[in-house]
Amino acid sequence: MDLKNSAQYIKGVGPVKFKLLNRLGIYTAGELLYYFPRRYEDRRTFSPIARLKAKDFATVKGEVLNVSFRRIRRGLSIFQIAAGDDTGVIQATWFNQPFMKRYFKPGQGIILYGKVEKRRRLQMNSPEFEFVSAKDSSLHMGRIAPIYRLSANLNQRYLRTIIDRAIQSHCSFIPDMLPYSLRAGLELLPLTLAIRYIHFPQDFTARDSAYRRLVFDEFFLLQLILALKKSRRAKTGAQITHRTQKEGRLIKTFRRSLPFKLTKAQNKVIKEIEDDMKAPQAMSRLLQGDVGSGKTIVAAYALVLSVQSGLQSALMAPTEVLAQQHYLMLSKLFAPLDINVGLLISSMSRQAKSSTVQDIKSGAVDIVVGTHALIEENLQFKRLGLVIIDEQHKFGVVQRSLLRKKGETADCLVMTATPIPRTLAMTVYGDLDISTIRELPKGRLPVSTVWVKEHDVKNIYNFIREEVARARQVYIVCPLIKKSPVLELKAASEMYEKLKEGEFRAYSVGLIHGRMKALEKEKVMQGFKNHKIDILVSTTVIEVGIDIPNASVMVIRHAERFGLSQLHQLRGRIGRGPHPSYCILVSELAGTEKARRRIDTMLNTQDGFRLAEEDLDIRGPGQFFGPAQHGLPELKLGNIVRDMQLLELARRVAFSLVRRDPCLKAPQHCLIRQRLKEKFSSANIGLLSV
Ligand code: ADP
Ligand code: MG
Repeated sequence: MDLKNSAQYIKGVGPVKFKLLNRLGIYTAGELLYYFPRRYEDRRTFSPIARLKAKDFATVKGEVLNVSFRRIRRGLSIFQIAAGDDTGVIQATWFNQPFMKRYFKPGQGIILYGKVEKRRRLQMNSPEFEFVSAKDSSLHMGRIAPIYRLSANLNQRYLRTIIDRAIQSHCSFIPDMLPYSLRAGLELLPLTLAIRYIHFPQDFTARDSAYRRLVFDEFFLLQLILALKKSRRAKTGAQITHRTQKEGRLIKTFRRSLPFKLTKAQNKVIKEIEDDMKAPQAMSRLLQGDVGSGKTIVAAYALVLSVQSGLQSALMAPTEVLAQQHYLMLSKLFAPLDINVGLLISSMSRQAKSSTVQDIKSGAVDIVVGTHALIEENLQFKRLGLVIIDEQHKFGVVQRSLLRKKGETADCLVMTATPIPRTLAMTVYGDLDISTIRELPKGRLPVSTVWVKEHDVKNIYNFIREEVARARQVYIVCPLIKKSPVLELKAASEMYEKLKEGEFRAYSVGLIHGRMKALEKEKVMQGFKNHKIDILVSTTVIEVGIDIPNASVMVIRHAERFGLSQLHQLRGRIGRGPHPSYCILVSELAGTEKARRRIDTMLNTQDGFRLAEEDLDIRGPGQFFGPAQHGLPELKLGNIVRDMQLLELARRVAFSLVRRDPCLKAPQHCLIRQRLKEKFSSANIGLLSV
């Protein structure tokens, strides 16, 4: 017996059923065993129908009393049954499913599961159902019964039956990757028992233990991959020959020339980065800190350290506008230090690009700042020592790993202003060390956030005029239009024309969007920075990183269309100077429940870390980054938020295992190694052969 046996080995699975199982992703006996229930029904006792309450999700058992079918008009039909037990009657209704009438006959025993509604009578709409009879085996009745996700022409009873058979025939052949020594200390069930109990638990305690063991396995494999990645990086990093010196003329001059005193938090993370850059391994660190917490200067510090050791560095930003801002800021900051900074973004002229590329190759440029053009152009560095990625959550996995590949042996610092809830950081960034800035520079005033309806926007315009009269500046961000930069641009341009000719005739109004050429964008941003522009109408190109302390008002049109982290990022553009500032969310809020929660959250808190937790709660872990971005395997059972303690446990165990046995070569770890190979793509298996 082998888990890789076709599911057709199981009695009751013929070619036809096999095809149906395939649709659920089940081909082998092992996959059948790992097809876990979606929920359970406690069929040891049932709620009496008379005691059902409206809005409850309930399971009831009764007898079909009568059935009725009505066609209302073409394509519209109602099928109804009444089911009763000793205490009362409930009605079940299915709309537009005429085929249902084939299944039901008065006198049949039936179980219904669904949401109870109470109109004149008790009722369920399209409940799940299962026929039962007095002769039923103990697989289906008188127990906690598993309920599976089905596809057409398969039913619960059939799946239960064949899964039970698979357990009988194959379960004892499941190799348990966790050696007893490891498992026992963690109070985890043996795998065979866990598989048995996840399908057919004798009580809910058994189900919980089974769940715990199986989720541990999922988390453990994931954390092992991360631990292996990290340990491999430590090894390759060891090849870096010239390490960064901490003390030196350059860094001293730089420290003296800083325009402000660093915060405690900045000093703390600078120390962490310095220690990494001195160590023989390559640095691999995530720097997270709320918007406006001053990450750029920390990055600048690392850049100077790298230059001081005679190495080149690259700083990558997600938008051209931000790359340009960094470029100008660093050029100015580094001018007295005699450090050469270059810029590389797609919309530069070909000539300008190729000259930068040449300078990078020859080593004439010490630091290159750019967008993803840095990975797209065929760049060659003379001696790359440090890679920094700003606002890295804006890049996809592929882009991030490409840039990191360029400097396999280079130090790598990734920065994000979207604080990442700890659970996610432990998975998505589980192979990185994490530094956190939890402090804003002194003297920052909180931003007042208000919500205004579209028809009250006139009042806002008055308020904007007052602010401009006080010599402040204003951003007006136009709606995010999903997947349509063209429409977004149209909205911004129209708003710009309208305001320039109308409400704000008397002021200088500017427009910026992603489709402009590099030079135009730079001109507009410089104009805003130098206060030649009072009011800047913009698409989301200013969402991340832009730093103009004199701006004190952020108006966000159609705020309901933005995600929570985007709203927070946009609000982060203001409140950067000594002036009171205002974030104005304009929205009719005809949007969804979720949109309402996002806006409420914005009104209630300004703490990016709390916002991030809330965002995770609203969106769920799978959606937090968007699927393409995190590059993590799907979890079948586990949920990193709900099962956080288990995640932490699995992480500790995995990292300590890799510390003891970095290539998983020990005989008692060979099954773990094998499971890893089965589970992860070839790219990751490479890790095991290092
Ligand atoms: P973020 O973390 O969002 O990237 P920035 O690095 O853009 O933040 O910094 C925000 C603003 O705070 C900038 O104008 C910067 O010059 C200023 N700043 C940074 N550190 C300090 C500090 N220690 N004291 C005063 N101002 C600071
Ligand atoms: Mg920044």
